[in-house]
Amino acid sequence: MRVEKADRLKKLPPYLFAEIDKAKRRAQESGRDIIDLGVGDPDQPTPRHIIEKLYEAASDPANHHYALDFGMPGLREAIVRWYEKRFAVRLDPDRECLPLLGSKEGLAHLPLGLVSPRDVVLIPEPCYPPYRSATIFAEGTPHYLPLLEENGFLPRFNKITSRVLSRAKLLFLNYPNNPTAATADEKFFAGAVKFARRHNILLAQDAAYSEITFGNYRPPSILQVAGARDLTVEFYSLSKTYNMTGWRIGWACGNQDIIAALSPVKSNIDSGVFQAIQVAAIEALNTGPEHLKNLNNLYQQRRDILCQGLNDLGWKVNKPKATFYVWVRLPRGHSDSIKFARYLLDKADVIVTPGIGFGPSGEGYIRFALTVPKERLQEAIARIKRVV
Ligand code: PMP
Repeated sequence: MRVEKADRLKKLPPYLFAEIDKAKRRAQESGRDIIDLGVGDPDQPTPRHIIEKLYEAASDPANHHYALDFGMPGLREAIVRWYEKRFAVRLDPDRECLPLLGSKEGLAHLPLGLVSPRDVVLIPEPCYPPYRSATIFAEGTPHYLPLLEENGFLPRFNKITSRVLSRAKLLFLNYPNNPTAATADEKFFAGAVKFARRHNILLAQDAAYSEITFGNYRPPSILQVAGARDLTVEFYSLSKTYNMTGWRIGWACGNQDIIAALSPVKSNIDSGVFQAIQVAAIEALNTGPEHLKNLNNLYQQRRDILCQGLNDLGWKVNKPKATFYVWVRLPRGHSDSIKFARYLLDKADVIVTPGIGFGPSGEGYIRFALTVPKERLQEAIARIKRVV
């Protein structure tokens, strides 16, 4: 029998990484020495003490059952403590904090709890793709806000028409940003909150990279803006901070009515995070400052090698202040990011992510991930030098 997929799947934007993914698989299968700067997945292991806590917790039969939808009280308290220490903002662990199976899960389910058919969702692009697909799954209408280099990759709210604004229900933000690595300061967040309040729009800020930072830079939380909590939820993840992408744990925090709209969606779909992982997450949140200092030093060294190497080739590359990505404009004479990424793979055995895969305003750029050792980055630059 022919299986007809649901209309909502047909409405998803084209998956522009497909061709390069296929080429990458073929190259890897044929045994070529590929340097993969495409995937944003830390190469470093989860810290030992977190793994050991998982062993211990996984051996305890008390942790083998369905978990509470709202997560263990101990985890919510650990999150609130971490958050207060980091941002000097006190959250209510019972109403303003919700553990997630990774922040992607919460970001993707949020529109199902907030967006009704025909509501508009404001989505800056280039962006992390789930904001778009989640909006489409909820039958909302995405309205894209281009993130342009001349505006520091921040959206311009005053360009949105009043017709769009009257239907807008939700605005996604993501700083530090994937893929552009741009950061936002408190002033920008304050402006976003003011804009959202004026137009009756809810705000979801994705802070997955909040701890991956360089030098003295420490990103603010949008919840530090006075009054933000009336309309804002912020998403955090343990994935990048503690090299735990595979563990699937993060949280949403902020406005209690938004949390109360997300929570029933989850109760109807998942049954909480494996409790042993929650216990290990508490351990993770109590990690001392050394871990992050070392991790960020490592990424910083890699960032410097890559940026210096590309600048030496005559490319114009700015060093990012946060995230483990470097967002690079294609060198002169090139404008098609898929073609360029394909060329680097074919000729240099180096994988980068074509910018257009994150949205039309990403065309003309490629994204490098700093998730390989320094020597491999040096080798990648040497290879790029030979072919470009
Ligand atoms: N937000 C952004 C911007 C991301 O890049 C990612 C992961 N690549 C996530 C959220 C999801 O992270 P996780 O689900 O592992 O918490």
